[in-house]
Amino acid sequence: MNNKIKKPKIVWLQAITCNGNTHSLLSANANRLKLFLDSFDLVYHPSLTTDTLLNDLLIEKNEIDFLLVEGAITSNKDFFQISDQGINEALKKLVLKSKYLIAIGSCASYGGVHQKFEQNDDICGLTDALDETDISYLTHPIINLTGCPVHPEWIFQTLFSLKEYKKVPLDEKGRPKEIYSYLAHHGCTRNEYFEWKVEAKSFGLKEGCLFYEQGCRGPMTHSNCNKILWNDVNTKTRAGMPCIGCTEFDFPRNNMLETKKNIGIPDEVPLGVTKRAYLSLAGVAKTFKIDRLNEKIIK
Ligand code: SF4
Ligand code: SF4
Repeated sequence: MNNKIKKPKIVWLQAITCNGNTHSLLSANANRLKLFLDSFDLVYHPSLTTDTLLNDLLIEKNEIDFLLVEGAITSNKDFFQISDQGINEALKKLVLKSKYLIAIGSCASYGGVHQKFEQNDDICGLTDALDETDISYLTHPIINLTGCPVHPEWIFQTLFSLKEYKKVPLDEKGRPKEIYSYLAHHGCTRNEYFEWKVEAKSFGLKEGCLFYEQGCRGPMTHSNCNKILWNDVNTKTRAGMPCIGCTEFDFPRNNMLETKKNIGIPDEVPLGVTKRAYLSLAGVAKTFKIDRLNEKIIK
């Protein structure tokens, strides 16, 4: 009897990308990366040594369990082609063989930074690149793991959940709710400074909140960065840099390291909070000067 359990097959396709999501994957916690590689069969990744070539995958009839795509899609061969064909054609061929399709990062989800250049007028993410016929064999709606880059744990969590439960609940943008129902603000070590409206005096300091001057998008950005942390230890906001909202579909925006204001009031207030409520609370908080919050944490 053959007791060998067949591992689910993963194919990682790269389109127009800086390779950032691949770097992120390879920076994962070593134990969890090993668990991932032990649990799945990563049959193809362009940056890793594998026995399979992309050409083989495009021609052969075999099924792919998980098709992971990093990078934006275009139909313009002058921008990008692979194996003598447009990336959109290669994508469609592979999608027809796949059960699950996962956009790895913001570029694959909606076009990301590449979509911002006016001359790139047909650059888009997976959902816009594919029509009903292309995705008719998928057993699950397209999953968008936004982020620039995506957190390696978001990839692992999604794949292990699908392996075990066959589906993951998604929000209205196709992102797994388990990951993207949180805000980057949740779990930030600067919450007390936010509540008492104590602003950070500069980047890279331990003290102060980065919302008031440095453009922090934590209170309106869906991600669990401050819950599961990067490299198991840190996040942008913990290190004293603002969240730049890389998981939202309007990323990247202009002037991301400053807070746009009108008569001293931020143009955008935390998600779900009315401007009136924000102004009332901020006004009250500002009237109190808490000495401890205006001092260095480590003296
Ligand atoms: S730095 Fe950003 S994430 Fe942290 S408390 Fe301030 S607004 Fe929230
Ligand atoms: S903290 Fe904000 S900018 Fe940084 S990875 Fe998380 S969502 Fe993206």
